[in-house]
Amino acid sequence: MRVLRVDRPGAVVLAECPSAEPRADEVVVFPRAVGLCGTDLELIDGGLDPAYASYPLVLGHEWSGVLSDGTPVVGEGIIPCGGCRSCRRGATNLCETYDEVGFTRPGAAADEVLVPSSLLHPLAPEVDLAAAALTEPMAVVLRGLRRVAPVPGLRALVIGDGTIGLLAAHLLRLWSPVEVCVLGLRPDQADLVTAAGASRFALTPKEAGTDFDVVVEAAGAPAAVETALATARRGGTVLLLGVAGHGRTAALRIDDLVNADLTVLGSFSYTSSAWRETVSLLNSGQVEPGFLITHSFPLSQADRALSMLKDSTGPRGKVLLTLP
Ligand SMILES: [Zn+2]
Ligand SMILES: [Zn+2]
Repeated sequence: MRVLRVDRPGAVVLAECPSAEPRADEVVVFPRAVGLCGTDLELIDGGLDPAYASYPLVLGHEWSGVLSDGTPVVGEGIIPCGGCRSCRRGATNLCETYDEVGFTRPGAAADEVLVPSSLLHPLAPEVDLAAAALTEPMAVVLRGLRRVAPVPGLRALVIGDGTIGLLAAHLLRLWSPVEVCVLGLRPDQADLVTAAGASRFALTPKEAGTDFDVVVEAAGAPAAVETALATARRGGTVLLLGVAGHGRTAALRIDDLVNADLTVLGSFSYTSSAWRETVSLLNSGQVEPGFLITHSFPLSQADRALSMLKDSTGPRGKVLLTLP
């Protein structure tokens, strides 16, 4: 079978390797669509916190696929041990033994991937498999929004016009907001922002305004974190979803934070319960993330897909690899 493998930072190859034998608790999944994201680029460059990657590694942590009997499925990437303190209270994202498909275990950018059967979620037959490859980033966003517990009628600002930001704008609609503004940097993203269901697109913090009930930082940049803290209303909530790069810092005006009575939340990855909820939203048609797919390439053209991911010209949503 073919695998898109990073042998060591800087060395990514599409290689042939023998199929692996599933263990008793695992199932063979045949991936059909695999999303690529900035984290994959960090895995390729070696920029990710070394605690979260073991080389050589097969890429692919955002995927949909089918079982040998044709059942369409998606699967949680984080493999919780089930027994540690975090797992026992449902915080499977914080499992003390970090293990994740596409990071410490072979990922789905391959003709076959092994997944623990307990982490698979069947899809309704009418769900588009390409769109379903966005389940993983949707679960990340939904888990963060659940921590915020938005109140219907809210005004929200989403900072970042990439996949996570666009999904945040899309999912916030579940709480019937009166306004969702996306603050981005790339005018080319305007149509995607509209398709996500945002009410407006701002290109500067001044245009975006202030006094938002909820601000979601999804740009992954220190300046964006500072903007997020400055644009929430007094008593509001700031959700940090962006990863600014290992070891980067942002300036914090401590008394502004205190005086504003601000809640600042970080959210790491997703829990099993966020997955269950995301899959049910997808299966019931309440969320349709397919609008985000702007580029698809067969696995054999993975190099083109990766250079598209780095390209900053033109509208860009999700870049997908398709199989078989
Ligand atoms: Zn990703
Ligand atoms: Zn655990």
